[in-house]
Amino acid sequence: IEFKDVHFSYNEEPVLAGVSFVAKQGEITALVGPSGSGKSTVSKLAARFWDADSGLITLGGIDVKTVEPEVLLKNYAIVFQNVTLFDESVMENIRLGRSGASDEDVRAAAKAAQCDEFIDRFEDGYNTYIEQGGSNVSGGQKQRLAIARAIAAKPPVILADEPTGNLDSASSREIMEILKSMHRSGETLILITHDRDIAQLADRIVHIEDGKIVGDTRKGSDSYA
Ligand code: ADP
Repeated sequence: IEFKDVHFSYNEEPVLAGVSFVAKQGEITALVGPSGSGKSTVSKLAARFWDADSGLITLGGIDVKTVEPEVLLKNYAIVFQNVTLFDESVMENIRLGRSGASDEDVRAAAKAAQCDEFIDRFEDGYNTYIEQGGSNVSGGQKQRLAIARAIAAKPPVILADEPTGNLDSASSREIMEILKSMHRSGETLILITHDRDIAQLADRIVHIEDGKIVGDTRKGSDSYA
């Protein structure tokens, strides 16, 4: 994914002022910076929730503006801080990532997201009903189910916006390790986080302040901006 001199405003209020960076395939790119600096906006523009006012955003070299939003969205799995689970079984909640996923695919995704152990402890296993959007699962379990859903979807790009936001530091590390292992299969992972420790796990750290890139560091190289 490449951003070239991207400008964007919400209702005339400028939010991004000339953002350029590359999130490479097979790498974790962390977007860091203060709250309100524009990180989420960057990820939403990449998935074309909105279009940039000017500049260019490409996915695999193709201008995202030329791709129908529904088609574009098939390229992304999105893991947000506030995961939405539906009043359905665990199996169906994971299968939502890709409607054609077989039960085997769902189980494999759950295993990769380290959900299988807690699912097996549920009385009804994969048939356990998720109540009221998730009142019978913990925050960490919800997050892992969301990741299992993303893995089942097998998308080229994963957008994770504060995926560890509500979790204690031990659970946060676990989630990061899972994200790291899933991206080894070649996905592009954009990770939005305010947690500097978690950002250190990325291959590249892009620092945004006030809608501008103020730092862009690759692991093992000197900082440049
Ligand atoms: P971050 O992810 O770094 O916290 P955001 O991209 O969410 O930053 O927000 C950047 C700025 O855009 C903030 O000032 C925020 O209030 C504003 N903003 C975000 N989403 C909207 C929206 N849907 N409508 C209007 N303003 C928004």
